[in-house]
Amino acid sequence: MKLTIIGSTGSFPGPGSPASCYLLTAHDGTRPWRVLLDFGSGSLGVLQRYMDLKDIDAVLISHLHPDHCMDLCGLHVAVHWDPEGWGRDRVRVYGPADTADRMADAYGLPRDPGMREDFDFRDWVAYEAVTIGPLTVTPYPVVHPVDEAYAFRIEGHEILEGRQIHSVLTYSGDTDECPELVEAARDADLFLCEAAFQEGRDDHIKGVHLTGKRAGEAAKAAAVQRLLLTHIPVWTDHTTVLEEARAEYSGELAVAVSGVTYGVRSGERIGDPRTATMSRVPESLARALQEAGVRHRPIPGHRGTRENPVQPGPHDPSP
Ligand SMILES: [Zn+2]
Ligand SMILES: [Zn+2]
Repeated sequence: MKLTIIGSTGSFPGPGSPASCYLLTAHDGTRPWRVLLDFGSGSLGVLQRYMDLKDIDAVLISHLHPDHCMDLCGLHVAVHWDPEGWGRDRVRVYGPADTADRMADAYGLPRDPGMREDFDFRDWVAYEAVTIGPLTVTPYPVVHPVDEAYAFRIEGHEILEGRQIHSVLTYSGDTDECPELVEAARDADLFLCEAAFQEGRDDHIKGVHLTGKRAGEAAKAAAVQRLLLTHIPVWTDHTTVLEEARAEYSGELAVAVSGVTYGVRSGERIGDPRTATMSRVPESLARALQEAGVRHRPIPGHRGTRENPVQPGPHDPSP
């Protein structure tokens, strides 16, 4: 399995990353399957640097906070209003029982049909595994102030070059410490775990998020192979949560960065962030973007033309 970090900023998008969204790819011997773990604010745009939206096999929603689900609204538009037609089955969306209604409300659609023409909504049942191509996904109930919140234990049964490969990824979703999280992460190859809070600063808030320390404790208790800290908000220092986790957990440890791809079993960094656009961006837009960057440098309040571009003024710092 390969894990690409699409969005890793906690609670709302940051300047360098969307909110929570992770692209998991696994091969069944005939084709790659692509599954999204959460689909938070801002992730739909960055996702298109890494895949065509039509290749999404399923979206797994951990809970219904906007930083984990809100870009389903944008995906609904991409599916429903594609001028060429979507051309594929409805996208499978696994989530809490309220997902379909909450998404319809968010968009201002009548709840019936809401987004059901585009998405095949399926409800999580705690501890009940679902199969998606070569993946088996088990939702574990965790501690977070919503009706339903889950961590996912995802077991990959891949066939690569004729060889069977098994690997385990655990994603915490949002949670404070709980035995279910440790159970979900038991012996995982890669534990993608939130660390939104800091020891000392957030001690008065219980039952919401982990700190680096508590994430490290869970990783140690579950004996995972490696720990990737994520969901770090803009007001939390990466170094602080890393050091807190390092004091508890002695295995491989890093902070999730938007755009980086990891091999789940090897832990190797196998892909770097991209800035290029995907194939579905029309030629004309790519050209327009290029021209805007290279040939036009309009000063706010002044309009240039292609024939007569605005020249940098005395207060314009650009060359
Ligand atoms: Zn969150
Ligand atoms: Zn949350």
